[in-house]
Amino acid sequence: MTNSSPEDRVRGAGIVTTTLEAVSEWARSRSMWQLAFGTACCALEMMATNASLIDLDRFGILPRTSPRQADFIIFSGTITFKLVPVIERIWDQMPDPKWAIAMGNCSTSGGIFYHDSYSVLKGVDRIVPVDVYISGCPPRPEALVDGLLELQRKIAAGTDKKEPIRL
Ligand code: SF4
Repeated sequence: MTNSSPEDRVRGAGIVTTTLEAVSEWARSRSMWQLAFGTACCALEMMATNASLIDLDRFGILPRTSPRQADFIIFSGTITFKLVPVIERIWDQMPDPKWAIAMGNCSTSGGIFYHDSYSVLKGVDRIVPVDVYISGCPPRPEALVDGLLELQRKIAAGTDKKEPIRL
């Protein structure tokens, strides 16, 4: 016979209480399908991140070639005005809920093309809401992994999309 309280005995039995919503958000954050899409040189770092050295599969992140089955997109490179209608169509084809990462200075703000360029969009967030910004020219794979983990945390927490994360 022990003197422990009923709460202690329940705790000792390994019982966890949570909500269905919390489990759903957590599961969603650990099964993210990435649209395979690149626009410029940052895409090479994104491809390297998907390759065997980093191996995004272990985080539950898998590339997908159809926007209709993708959870998130990484804008990896310069966005020209010519690309804008393509990106808008791809984004519209992705089902809700969906997320976006701006990888590198070009997709974040136009980067080195911010001044004196007639053809480059000064930030993809002018056409699509961005959840995570990753600085760099280009960001290394480690920086992209950091951004992906931040996105996972954001999805798991059910954070409001209006609060982007800047790395
Ligand atoms: S940020 Fe640098 S590496 Fe990335 S697309 Fe722009 S110029 Fe290329």
